Amino acid sequence: MKGHRRSYIFISNFLFLLLSIATITVSPFFPPAVDSHQDASSSMSPSPAGELEKLKQEEAKLSSLLAQVRQQKLSVLRSRPLTIGIIGFGRFGQFIGKSFAKYGNVIGTSRSDYTEIAREMGVKYMPLSDLEAFVMEDELDVIVIAVSIVSFQDTVQDLVLHLQKRIQEKGSCPLIVDVLSVKEHARNILLELLPEECDILCTHPMFGPDSAKHGWQGQTFVYERTRIDGVLLDPTKGYEYDSDNGDLLMDEQGLSHDAHENSDAHIEGMDRIERFLSIWEEEGCNMISMSCKSHDGFTANSQFITHLMGRILGAQGLQATPIDTKGFQSVLKLIETTNADSFDLFFGLYKFNRNSKEAISRLKESMNDVVGKLLEMEGEREEHIKSCL
Ligand code: NAP
Repeated sequence: MKGHRRSYIFISNFLFLLLSIATITVSPFFPPAVDSHQDASSSMSPSPAGELEKLKQEEAKLSSLLAQVRQQKLSVLRSRPLTIGIIGFGRFGQFIGKSFAKYGNVIGTSRSDYTEIAREMGVKYMPLSDLEAFVMEDELDVIVIAVSIVSFQDTVQDLVLHLQKRIQEKGSCPLIVDVLSVKEHARNILLELLPEECDILCTHPMFGPDSAKHGWQGQTFVYERTRIDGVLLDPTKGYEYDSDNGDLLMDEQGLSHDAHENSDAHIEGMDRIERFLSIWEEEGCNMISMSCKSHDGFTANSQFITHLMGRILGAQGLQATPIDTKGFQSVLKLIETTNADSFDLFFGLYKFNRNSKEAISRLKESMNDVVGKLLEMEGEREEHIKSCL
């Protein structure tokens, strides 16, 4: 009897369990039936009167708090403005120099003489032939290297000697930032050649003088904090927030470092990086922390393909017509913007991103596939017409 009862209890529990699972599983797809006489709206619990009003007030309070924090950030940034040196004062160097000048002191240097252009922007200019004087400038916080991708390695090589002298004489190295459109190449060279004392920030503003001629608002800025105070950071971990430990940086051995670690060099290094990044933030950029490796994987299939298509279409000599479609206008725009950049830049995108050759192969395959489909269809039609005769 006991055995029957136990199995009865077991079976009924089992059925109950099944029923519960079925209800849970099925309910998202079959919501509980509403009595057809009942008003459907009455099944939703109405929000108490005035709730929206309260939420709006809360929203207004938060945005005013956000505005205050931004204001404080800006005054901290302006209280001790950075001195930023730019090596390579060409098309892109001038473009960023103009905005940097709103936030700090800017010194440009390049092969060509840009003294007049720099003066109009409120930027001090020094010839690249006197790189030593540029590097030894007092208060130089940051050096941004904005030369062509193809001349990057030689430029860094030349810079190293002067940085070593500065470290010996002044005991510090400015933060070294690159803005190259290919990132693994830049990262490897900086890590290989720069003295250990130099902090490194690898960046790529995903915009330029054409695409952002009306401002940087909403433009994407990719960066990797590569090395701070001699610690090589794990770019895949980036800069994380841990609720127990605060802001953390992971090194390549998997050791975590507090963003506010107790060494003056570390604190100063972090502060300098944050100040520099804040300029881009203040200009409204969409800030993306990403490893150089991931960046290059993405850009081979986006930026490089865009430039390649722009160059191929540009080589066709396409011209505007009186009856352009919107699509064709976009094609002409693509040709205009990609061809405005130097061929050195295009070559650099190809040569120094290991994924670009594969992108070209895939493009050729797709071209063959699409043309093949057209020829196949044409052949089938001709066969069909012949068979009808
Ligand atoms: P670029 O043709 O890639 O570079 C021109 C700059 O490189 C000029 O400042 C030029 O100096 C310098 N340069 C060229 N050969 C040199 C050499 N042998 N030694 C020293 N300096 C040399 O054109 P860019 O558009 O100005 O780009 C500069 C950098 O910014 C590149 O690394 C590029 O990837 C990056 N970037 C460009 C864009 C963009 O939209 N254009 C966007 C993001 C990042 P002189 O003018 O004095 O000859």
